[in-house]
Amino acid sequence: MTLRLFVCIVTLPILSLHSVFAAEVDLKGRFIEGGLVIGKTYPDNKISLDDVPLIVSKDGDFVFGFHRKAPDRQTLHVTLPDGSSHKQVLEISSRTYDVQRIDGLDEKWITPPSNVAKRIRADAAKVSAVRRSTQTTMYFGESWIWPAQGIISGVYGSRRVLNGKPRAPHYGIDISVTEGALVRAPASGTITLVEDLYYSGITVMIDHGMGIMSTMLHLQESLVKVGDQVSQGDVIARSGNTGRSSGAHLDWRINWLNHARLDPGLLVPLMQ
Ligand SMILES: [Zn+2]
Repeated sequence: MTLRLFVCIVTLPILSLHSVFAAEVDLKGRFIEGGLVIGKTYPDNKISLDDVPLIVSKDGDFVFGFHRKAPDRQTLHVTLPDGSSHKQVLEISSRTYDVQRIDGLDEKWITPPSNVAKRIRADAAKVSAVRRSTQTTMYFGESWIWPAQGIISGVYGSRRVLNGKPRAPHYGIDISVTEGALVRAPASGTITLVEDLYYSGITVMIDHGMGIMSTMLHLQESLVKVGDQVSQGDVIARSGNTGRSSGAHLDWRINWLNHARLDPGLLVPLMQ
């Protein structure tokens, strides 16, 4: 009798907590550094990841992702219209990252001359402003396509040593392509930036909605303009070798607002 009472008191609250969360929230994706997670809930619920409130679309979609060095655990909270709150702790797998050494780069890319410092700051501010706003419609799903075909010459997360000097990690996936090769939209969305930036050269950004955005770097030319709607597979640019680039390639990046940089390589199938 005593045992039975003990079991009831201890297990019931845990079970009911778990089942409320599971009944309200469905999650699909990779719980790994650089991973993207797509969630579904009732549209009148509120969702937050730790302290960050997430956008919930009118259909109840929400998304989030994990940075290169995400904490081992993050907590997802759902608040129902009655004010009750339920949570689920997410365990995030960590990864090991290689060191990539690139030598022979012009010194202007390693220690930029003082007269371009202002431009570099203005470039960063422009990109950051674009990353701050998004559409609350989800233009992507679980099937992404490669924006170009070629040998992978750089991966997400690697630590960079340029001309022997440690620099910021690499957040994109580099696809080795010939100059002028067509670049396609990996998922549908709206073009939000077309700029010639100091480090990334001719750069195009696509807002896929819900804070998920692709950036294509080092292009030869953009074939789209800000405000254009693109569908998955549409040609948006020609690849090139502009900015800090040591040969023709496409560098494809994905970010979740300004919160996290995600790994595009986790979203696409193995290259043919
Ligand atoms: Zn790159």
